[in-house]
Amino acid sequence: MRVARYYAPGDLRLEDAPEPSPGRDEVKIRVRQCSTCGTDVKIFNHGHHHLVPPRVIGHEIAGEVVEVGADVRGWAAGDRVQVIAAVPCGTCPDCVRGRMPVCPDQTSVGYHYDGGFAEYLVVPRAVLAVDGLNRIPDGVGFAEASVAEPLACVLNGQELAGVGPGDDVVVVGAGPIGCLHVRLARARGAARVFLVELNRARLDMSAEKVHPDAAICSAEADAVDEVRKLTDGRGVDVVITAAASGAAQEDALQMAARSGRISFFGGLPKDRPTITLDSNLVHYRELTIVGANGSSPEHNKRALELIATGQVPVADLITHRLRLSELPDAIKLVATGAAIKVTIEP
Ligand SMILES: [Zn+2]
Ligand SMILES: [Zn+2]
Repeated sequence: MRVARYYAPGDLRLEDAPEPSPGRDEVKIRVRQCSTCGTDVKIFNHGHHHLVPPRVIGHEIAGEVVEVGADVRGWAAGDRVQVIAAVPCGTCPDCVRGRMPVCPDQTSVGYHYDGGFAEYLVVPRAVLAVDGLNRIPDGVGFAEASVAEPLACVLNGQELAGVGPGDDVVVVGAGPIGCLHVRLARARGAARVFLVELNRARLDMSAEKVHPDAAICSAEADAVDEVRKLTDGRGVDVVITAAASGAAQEDALQMAARSGRISFFGGLPKDRPTITLDSNLVHYRELTIVGANGSSPEHNKRALELIATGQVPVADLITHRLRLSELPDAIKLVATGAAIKVTIEP
């Protein structure tokens, strides 16, 4: 079979590999779609501290069961499935208390196990152990199902930030994650959603899809001023930064209303992880700052439901469909921001 295997920064090879065989407690799938995201670009350029090369990457996976180990119950050839990416251990104190996204023993598909940029994939037993193989609802295509993984992360982020009915929300960053945040905030009953983005072309492309109540290009206007104007000086209830920008995080505090919540959804580059924040704003205005780290298996199931019920449509966010041999082009598309979601059909 053909696979895309990562060896070192800048060294991603399309190779032939033997088809993997499932163990007694594993399931083998034919990968139908594996979508790309900013993390794939990060891995391609810099590697990742959890990834020991050589490794088949790709973690937004949807496919079809082709073989089931003798000890596995509940799955059969032909089942359409989505695979979680972040795999919690399921047994540590954090997992037991329902905080699976921060499991310290978490492993990841495409990092610790071979991922979805391949024709076939053996779903690791650790995934099955935490109920991380999900049936794709009828009517949901493989490409849409592959977007359940990033949507699950977005769902985790908005739960932690408490996005709910009546909230005014700012989303900073108009990439695929920002688009999902806009749509999910609406599904959760937000009053108004404003989208902020530095890159004018990317802002226009995404705004045309997700129709925020205002689209603010932060290269052309002061985003903090614009948000204050839109809210009569009050600020918004929730600010979500879906951009690897310390400046965006600092601005987020200035955009928040009293008792506002701020989600540092996107991480910062590891060599520049610090920001300067006015702690008195947090203190006097009773702000809450939350992080977000991936998702739980349960979030993936609910993300599939959100897609299936049409509450969070994702099909129109998939702007490019490429073959596995075109993965290098896909990574370039993602890196330049010229695409929203790029999916690979191995
Ligand atoms: Zn991803
Ligand atoms: Zn755990």
